[in-house]
Amino acid sequence: MRRIIPIAPHRTRGLPPPAMPTGAAPDGALLRDALGRPLRDLRISVTDRCNFRCSYCMPAEAFAHGHAWMQHSELLRFEEITRLARCFVARGVRKLRITGGEPLLRRGLERLIEQLAALRTPDGAPLELALTTNGTLLARRARALKDAGLQRVTVSLDALDEALFARINGVGASPRGVLEGIDAALAAGLVPLKVNVVVRRGSNEGQIVPLARHFRGSGVALRFIEYMDAGGAHGWRMAQVVPSVQVLARLQREFPLAPLAPAAPGETATRYAWLGAGGQPDARLGEIGLISSVTQPFCHECCRARLSMDGKLFLCLFATQGYELRDVLRSGASDAELDAAIAAIWSARHDRYSALRTSLSPEARQAPRVGMSYIGG
Ligand code: SAM
Ligand code: SF4
Ligand code: SF4
Repeated sequence: MRRIIPIAPHRTRGLPPPAMPTGAAPDGALLRDALGRPLRDLRISVTDRCNFRCSYCMPAEAFAHGHAWMQHSELLRFEEITRLARCFVARGVRKLRITGGEPLLRRGLERLIEQLAALRTPDGAPLELALTTNGTLLARRARALKDAGLQRVTVSLDALDEALFARINGVGASPRGVLEGIDAALAAGLVPLKVNVVVRRGSNEGQIVPLARHFRGSGVALRFIEYMDAGGAHGWRMAQVVPSVQVLARLQREFPLAPLAPAAPGETATRYAWLGAGGQPDARLGEIGLISSVTQPFCHECCRARLSMDGKLFLCLFATQGYELRDVLRSGASDAELDAAIAAIWSARHDRYSALRTSLSPEARQAPRVGMSYIGG
């Protein structure tokens, strides 16, 4: 078999290529990486563009006029994404999440959803198919996305306060449009719906309780996420992280909550139920989730791969380089060759940045990383 794992650096960073994975890729079996972690979850970023300029992700000064956005020919075509997804599914992936940038900016996204929704596991079961969005375009797209086969959405919303939200999103957008998107998604049946809040000290920690009050009773799973030192989070400092234990303490001062058992192995959120009128957990009210990516890393269970819009495969949110799958695809590789590339890359994976963060040298911690807007959250 010819060698088919060329590696390319992230286009804007000019990083040196990583070492090639070595060793034989297991044949046909479900994959485990070098630390024994399966491949279960594929995040597919479909665009590098966004209509927000969140200060911690795509700050306006770094993504101003003149920024070199990708050309359409650089993006994976929907058929290419679907073909790759099919290969990943054959190797164990059961959950696909569409992300970006802002995925709803990718024209004709419903066509991709239709193609992905038609994929089946080797046992013939449908996959979990979800999308993460800032919600601004959701009100008018929710029904079409659902009809195309999307099952669930996660909507990002960091504040309800108009002025604060406008500052955070960097373009002056109001939370009202996002709330309308959430309502439309609920009405279209894109459930269970999650709302993600990235909590940053000195920014939106005062929104924890108002957000909880707003969503209690809506059926929504509200998830508070620790602010991470991901690419895009320029000038990140540990002092800006509000540990989940502090978020929980704030919530418990206002609302009685009951811990919930994990719904699935490897679940990233610690979950809590609202108590209903009788003092019993009431799932109809929704739930709270805490994602402690910084203070309690879950690398030992991380089964996620990330595919960028231009076809690079990243093995960690904090990766500095990606494996070039687009060139493999476009070189005329067979499905068997694509499969061998994926198997070799995943089998050699040993990434666990968050688990190592505190023991890494300052240089390693500050290594230039791809942005969250490039490989999704
Ligand atoms: N544009 C869509 C959105 O905002 O939902 C999808 C892409 S965005 C990169 C995915 C998620 O990553 C969002 O929920 C965002 O809040 C989160 N995110 C971005 N930068 C982050 C950081 N430094 N720490 C924690 N979460 C971050
Ligand atoms: Fe855009 Fe999402 Fe990044 Fe905000 S977090 S800038 S909405 S990609
Ligand atoms: Fe997974 Fe990397 Fe995050 Fe650890 S730091 S949980 S390996 S993405």
